[in-house]
Amino acid sequence: MRSHRVAIAGLLHESNTFLPVPTRRCHFEQGSLTEGKLLLERWSGGLHELGGFLEGAKIHGFQPIPLLATFAVPSGTIESDAFEELVTTMVARLRSALPIDGLLVALHGATVAESFRDADGEIARRLRQVLGQNVPIIITLDLHANASKQMIEQTNATVMYRSNPHLDQRERGIEAATLMARTLRGEIQPVQAIEQPPLLINIAKQHTQEPPARGLYDDVQSVMEWPGILSASVAMGFYYADVAEMGASFLAVADGDSALARKAAHWMAQRAWERRDEFQGDLPSPEEAVRVAGEMAQGPTVLMDVGDNVGGGSPGDSTILMAEVLRQQVPNALVILYDPESVQTCVRAGVRQDVTLNVGAKTDRLHGQPIPIQGKVRLLSDGLFTETQVRHGGWGKYDQGVTAVVETEQLHTFVLTSLRMAPMSLEQILSLGIKPENKRSSSRKVSSLRVRPTNPLPAR
Ligand SMILES: [Zn+2]
Repeated sequence: MRSHRVAIAGLLHESNTFLPVPTRRCHFEQGSLTEGKLLLERWSGGLHELGGFLEGAKIHGFQPIPLLATFAVPSGTIESDAFEELVTTMVARLRSALPIDGLLVALHGATVAESFRDADGEIARRLRQVLGQNVPIIITLDLHANASKQMIEQTNATVMYRSNPHLDQRERGIEAATLMARTLRGEIQPVQAIEQPPLLINIAKQHTQEPPARGLYDDVQSVMEWPGILSASVAMGFYYADVAEMGASFLAVADGDSALARKAAHWMAQRAWERRDEFQGDLPSPEEAVRVAGEMAQGPTVLMDVGDNVGGGSPGDSTILMAEVLRQQVPNALVILYDPESVQTCVRAGVRQDVTLNVGAKTDRLHGQPIPIQGKVRLLSDGLFTETQVRHGGWGKYDQGVTAVVETEQLHTFVLTSLRMAPMSLEQILSLGIKPENKRSSSRKVSSLRVRPTNPLPAR
């Protein structure tokens, strides 16, 4: 018997519709854009769901037929032309690969194009149009998907990440590939159902290893043990996208039993709804956060500005927390800001040279004001780094563009990047020779540092 031919495709973008700048084709090229054989080379062995699809092909002995796979760093709504070009190529490759036995697609679920607010659903619709109703389509989605009815109606099964940070992408890819292989062998007949209560989960309450988010995934585990259930998922939603589907979704895949899938999705949704108060945000103000961090006896303390969530498409240049650090005179802090203009000034000045800069807050008027600083250029870097551990996003190689490390007299370290980079890997600063554990804010340490301002402790 010939091995089954399973087409592999992916289009992943988390679209922040509040950003004024649209996402263009060049942003996908900067991220990753591969077709055909290059797709296999790019993703084989990776910790990403596409790597999981290919691993699943090996485990189950089906033949992967690579179409097109692309992703861009989260950013604004995708321009109509770019979206059309990418999806048209994907669909054309599928058409020319026929006959196909099944299709695995890695989608994000919070992708918005200017022309299609439910871009993922539109992709699924067009792929289904080519394949007809009898060829199974199984998709993976990010845990931050704003899942839509269309995504579910146009596909046979959906598997979402179950870990935030996203550490299980490869496993979910393998899970989707396994569902595909079992379907093609005639062992199962997946049917799915989705339930979408008007529920929004604050981003600070989304860590799946601790309450309250953990409870959602305990429920997913329970449902997966129900006889007849093949898979279950919860999407927390992505509220930086202003779309009709925005919010949490509860999804179950059952073996041939639609009523069972509906029952399972409803059960998970109902339980989350009953304790919806737990998912409200209760974050401190920047002023309070910096004050508490400054009083900590032990360092380092990490402060996150979740309003400038680079992983969610934000500019990555908010100065709101750092301005507060300066105002309260808390010394020895580290901040990473996207600021290609200041990087260029540092490059022109060169290492060990004094620079006067206005850093950060240049993308829009929503993320504070540029901060005037004076300091020395400690290091210039190509901004490339590698992560070998499993990390959120599933990437191994990172590029934050040409990067400058500037240190001020107050021992603040400013890492200035030319490309926006979400803080997914500690290698982002370790690769610059910075030891974050040396960043402290205890007051005793401060006074000892202050006695030798002309010879500041190196940040690396
Ligand atoms: Zn996500």
